[in-house]
Amino acid sequence: MASQQQVREYLAYWFQLGKKIVLRQGVNPFLPSPVIQGDRYSQEFEDCWQYIFAIGGKDCYLEGTDQTIEELLSPTWQLEDCARCEMPIPLATSGMPAQVCPCYDLPLWPNNDVPGPRAPVSSLSHLTEIRERLERADRSTADDLTADNLGDETLGKKTNLETNSVSN
Ligand SMILES: [Zn+2]
Repeated sequence: MASQQQVREYLAYWFQLGKKIVLRQGVNPFLPSPVIQGDRYSQEFEDCWQYIFAIGGKDCYLEGTDQTIEELLSPTWQLEDCARCEMPIPLATSGMPAQVCPCYDLPLWPNNDVPGPRAPVSSLSHLTEIRERLERADRSTADDLTADNLGDETLGKKTNLETNSVSN
């Protein structure tokens, strides 16, 4: 079962890559923009999340996924990192993976210029990026339970995405 915090972060990460949320059948998918403002979530994002939360995520789902937010908050599903792009994706608690990661139709994602796990690391900037990611991971583990940290952590991820697209 994914926690509310995890589901919130899951949406925030994917919104930053342009994935929209389907809130109701027959209504155009919605993308709050911006997602981050300063060091916290934007009002647009908070309003969107409050709406989803108020209806228990029923019939709401992220574009490109089959799992509703209601299901993600149920014991049947949890959120894990995609093996390919490290974004959070639904994983059945029983261990069966979701059919696809929502990254499948993003042409510039994951960034293929970054060497795969088995390739030798050749560039200094890549090393720096890995180090910063590890440092962020350390910090987020230490401060995991403070709500204020969520904004910083997401902002860090966003900066990382921007770095990727620049080097692309
Ligand atoms: Zn992925």
